[in-house]
Amino acid sequence: MSTKYEVKTSNKLGRYLVAAKDLRAGERILSDQPFVLGPNSDTSLVCFNCYLPLISKFVVCKNCGIAPICPGDGCPEQFAKWHSRQECDFFRNLKLNKGTSPMTMVQNVGSLLVLRALLKQNDSPQEWKVFSELESHLDRRRDSSVWEYYDNTVKFIQSLGLLENGQNQELVQQICAAIDVNSFEVRGPPIPAIGCAEVLRGVYLQATLLAHDCVANTHMSINDNNVLVCHASTDIKKGEPIYYNYTDALKGTAIRQQHLMIGKYFKCTCSRCSDVTEMGTYMSSAVCPACKTGYMSQHGELWVCHSCKNETEHSVVGHKVQCCSDKLEVINKKDEKELEEYIRYVSLVLAPNHYLLLDAKQRLAGVLRDIINREPRPTKKVMRRKMELCKELLPVLETLSPGICRIKAITLYELHATIVQLAKKLFDAREITGADFADELLCAEKHLKHALEMLVIEPGNSPEGELCAKALEEYRALKLTIAKVMDSVHAEGKVYKIEDVTEEEALHPEID
Ligand SMILES: [Zn+2]
Ligand SMILES: [Zn+2]
Ligand SMILES: [Zn+2]
Ligand SMILES: [Zn+2]
Repeated sequence: MSTKYEVKTSNKLGRYLVAAKDLRAGERILSDQPFVLGPNSDTSLVCFNCYLPLISKFVVCKNCGIAPICPGDGCPEQFAKWHSRQECDFFRNLKLNKGTSPMTMVQNVGSLLVLRALLKQNDSPQEWKVFSELESHLDRRRDSSVWEYYDNTVKFIQSLGLLENGQNQELVQQICAAIDVNSFEVRGPPIPAIGCAEVLRGVYLQATLLAHDCVANTHMSINDNNVLVCHASTDIKKGEPIYYNYTDALKGTAIRQQHLMIGKYFKCTCSRCSDVTEMGTYMSSAVCPACKTGYMSQHGELWVCHSCKNETEHSVVGHKVQCCSDKLEVINKKDEKELEEYIRYVSLVLAPNHYLLLDAKQRLAGVLRDIINREPRPTKKVMRRKMELCKELLPVLETLSPGICRIKAITLYELHATIVQLAKKLFDAREITGADFADELLCAEKHLKHALEMLVIEPGNSPEGELCAKALEEYRALKLTIAKVMDSVHAEGKVYKIEDVTEEEALHPEID
């Protein structure tokens, strides 16, 4: 049993985890191997052994003669292998006794995860027992479209003769439901040299006990070996529930609740969901047409201004918000001008931190980052705009994802990078003094340090882990640059240029 958490039970949350001791932000709470991991129910063909997408051709496993696997040199060594000996023997028997063909497997790749879960019944009976007791909300799915959707899976499993005496389609539906309700998205192995990957689903038997809250106190990552690691994102006191946010923190309450209802079958009543201002961010609010400065939030069929109390019909405001949402769907989200125009336009209707605006601003920041990195001489205007967007996003993230947060870390990293780029450009053009330059670099250093404190818990082999390694090198180089700039500020009459510090010097400082 873990010393970090205890399992509790309540009517509202079912089984959930609480801190068994005071936990510090950044402390590891649990790490979890997947019970099962596999393709989505609507996936294209993947290798049954390593889950690489099989784009044009495949071969079948030599032993069973059924499982489609990677052609050529076979599955790359570095990826985990999922076609177990037991499964292979089971498939071999199918082929010998029922004449099952590889095409049956190819056509039912979307049911592979269910098949593998069911095989655990014999292969890992203890884990199977825990899995079979997970929440599945089966009664709410019965006779719904999702029940019908999984009919093919039921037929496929039945055709394999996998159901034991007395077991019926209910069991298959229950497995489908338990996977839908309890699985986490996992990045599949990337195709070598191309990098694209399938999105897989994994069931993690410890992590699935984390209760949901739209303001989480944990940070989750899944490394390339498919191990899920959960860290405290803020300090958690002994006895407090440990929460994970199963939705997107940067979406408004209506969208989050819809996502939770469809995917997890519950209505969230957390403090953020119960607060129409969404913790003062006004993330789902609109600008009041009466006073023009207050923000309106929806109360049933009315939108009420928090400032002047003006009331407007939902049909009027709801329609305007929907238009903003529809417009974001159709604009080119890689185009700086279209995004700027969109932001200008919807700012007249939506509160400044409305999730649609934040979405557009995040995308614009990404477009500007690419421009700055691509252009040989990016303009000061582009840099300043990108910094402004990062600064607008950060306080919202701090409120809705307090403590350690992946998007916050990346935003802080981006902010630091642009502060350095702009300061260098200004200093080189003699537009700021050495002292101003040093101040800007110190400010960038502060942001980079904060980003690093969060990135350091990311798995080394993830994109965020790679960013962490890069950020760490940049941090060392930046500290060295700052020291040199400070020296030159103090050395009278010396004109200092940033080029004086070579990359080599920055990365490998001489130790006196
Ligand atoms: Zn493979
Ligand atoms: Zn095989
Ligand atoms: Zn909530
Ligand atoms: Zn008003």
